[in-house]
Amino acid sequence: MNIPMLDLKAEYALLRDEIEPAVTAALAACQYIGGPNVKAFEAEAATYAGVRHAISCASGTDALLIALRAIGLGPGDEVITTAFTFVATASTVVMCGGKPVFVDINPRTFNLDLDQVEAAITPRTKAIVPVHLFGQPVHLAPLKALCEKHGLKLIEDAAQSFGADYAGRMSGAYGDIGCTSFYPSKNLSAFGDGGLMMTDDDQLAAEMRVLASHGSRVRYHHHVLGYNSRLDEIQAVILRVKLKRLDHFNNRRRAVADSYNQLLAGLVETPFADGHGRHVYHQYTILSDRRDLIQKVLTDAGIACAVYYPVPLHRQEMFAATHGQVTLPVTESVARHCLSLPISPLLREEQVRRIVGVMRQALT
Ligand SMILES: *Cc1c(COP(=O)(O)O)cnc(C)c1O
Repeated sequence: MNIPMLDLKAEYALLRDEIEPAVTAALAACQYIGGPNVKAFEAEAATYAGVRHAISCASGTDALLIALRAIGLGPGDEVITTAFTFVATASTVVMCGGKPVFVDINPRTFNLDLDQVEAAITPRTKAIVPVHLFGQPVHLAPLKALCEKHGLKLIEDAAQSFGADYAGRMSGAYGDIGCTSFYPSKNLSAFGDGGLMMTDDDQLAAEMRVLASHGSRVRYHHHVLGYNSRLDEIQAVILRVKLKRLDHFNNRRRAVADSYNQLLAGLVETPFADGHGRHVYHQYTILSDRRDLIQKVLTDAGIACAVYYPVPLHRQEMFAATHGQVTLPVTESVARHCLSLPISPLLREEQVRRIVGVMRQALT
């Protein structure tokens, strides 16, 4: 019995009878770009997230890039964010000509250390980009207060947290703009790439729509350098089916995490949910001094596991010239000790027991 990180096959088997006829209908309708399902999905996603505007695009990376362009990020501007994240959080800043400024993380939540953010603000700072890592909402109120005090924008990287909530708002709906991804491993996932920008700001929304469609307000008239970044009709069909299950699936993820927490207590450091909002466990990530041993025994037993992230961004080759001098002790320590275990909405209790059994045998 091999266990994958994320059991997409089980999900497909469950939803197939609903997805396949809907996809076939969209194929026959031949409105592959900007079709009715894209519009319907945007409306449904806006309602779900509780925002005035949900604008779809081609990926989570594009969502971040377009959001940063929309707030006017340009050469010389700084963006405060975390180095313990997927590369796109910071590469998009560089694509705009800006400079990511990495702040260390909290050792228990793996999210930005809120006590270190203000000291990183300079006259060139334009935005703060918190990442709700592994599905855990960042405590955003202090960050919003800093943004108001210093005239900065708050852009949420909610790629791993769609469906989480914080202070009565859905993840991605609290800041000036929230960005999410529908990459196949994400909590709400397409059968390919896709992304979404969320905002209550009419002007930012209009700007992001223009940027996502070649910088064009009127067809064939381009007033700003834009992108071809669209969600296609087929992906929208699939996302509409899956959006209806998102809360249920996220509840299932929490139940799986609860089982792990109980079974792993005392064996490894289990994830810490700080209680600021509802965690949606995009990943279930433990810490252990014997991380490499655990990884080996699980792999040998046919159980997938993964290190997210083995190389923090300030240690990436692409940032060597600009960030080679940066040291982030907590980030570096967590990168050495973290391990993500399989988690999916359809992971069964007996699978969780088997995974923990293999770990227990190796560790005791
Ligand atoms: C997945 C992810 C992205 C990028 O999304 P894509 O759709 O893969 O482009 C950005 N930030 C974080 C934190 C992610 O996990």
